[in-house]
Amino acid sequence: MNVQNNNDRAEWLQGPPAVCSVKPGEARTPWRLVLLGAPGVGKGTQADLLHQRLGACHLSTGDVFRAAGSRSDCDQTPAMRAAVEYMRRGALVPDLTVWEMVRERSGCIGCRGGFLLDGFPRTLVQAEALKQYMETEHLALTAVVDYELPLEEIVARLSGRRTCEKCRSVFHVSSLPSGDQAPCPRCGGKLYQREDDRPESIAVRLEAYRRSTAPLIQFYKNLGLLVSVAATGSPDEICDRTIAALESAVAARS
Ligand code: AMP
Repeated sequence: MNVQNNNDRAEWLQGPPAVCSVKPGEARTPWRLVLLGAPGVGKGTQADLLHQRLGACHLSTGDVFRAAGSRSDCDQTPAMRAAVEYMRRGALVPDLTVWEMVRERSGCIGCRGGFLLDGFPRTLVQAEALKQYMETEHLALTAVVDYELPLEEIVARLSGRRTCEKCRSVFHVSSLPSGDQAPCPRCGGKLYQREDDRPESIAVRLEAYRRSTAPLIQFYKNLGLLVSVAATGSPDEICDRTIAALESAVAARS
């Protein structure tokens, strides 16, 4: 099954009044998923693969802040400028700013194509805000996938991660023939290390995860929505495992 659409996610990445170039097809039962897991566990890669298989859009709050960070200062609201500064330090952006940003893009939450939320919610306050909003709109999450990986592997993945300036593809230095200095194997563009993947930011991000995001596992377990998936093996293996786990969770409920 491959239901990828060519949606550029303009409504999500740029916010209103931007509109997506192609709307995702209306799914009969849209997948509305939250992807949880520590930074570096591979949620972004999985969201891209799941998008190809399930059709739902990859909605990453980190992508919105990075897109804002690459705009000129005068094109940013003061709240967004402050949010980008938190991101650069590896700290969490305040809940109110994050929720206002998501609320502004609520069309993506209600989209009939479904969604794959990556990096949101990240605190109990954000999870409650999403739950209340979805209840008001008579929407329901299909499931919450929690990707599990040992801490040492998370640190190794984050510190070796490189992103292409041009096509945004993500690689690990260990997979590149000339290591750190290699050009992008996909388009030849320059690879760079995300500012928040530097050692000093990694420590801050992992601590923020432990303190603020890990409690969401219990929150969603209590709601009967949690599906745990081991994030070991190749991206395709993890994606197959995710879809099998989701299908069996959905079947068990019906
Ligand atoms: P990510 O790409 O999901 O790792 O996010 C990159 C950075 O953006 C995080 O380290 C935070 O600084 C910020 N960020 C993204 N999503 C959120 C969120 N839901 N709550 C608070 N900060 C966030």
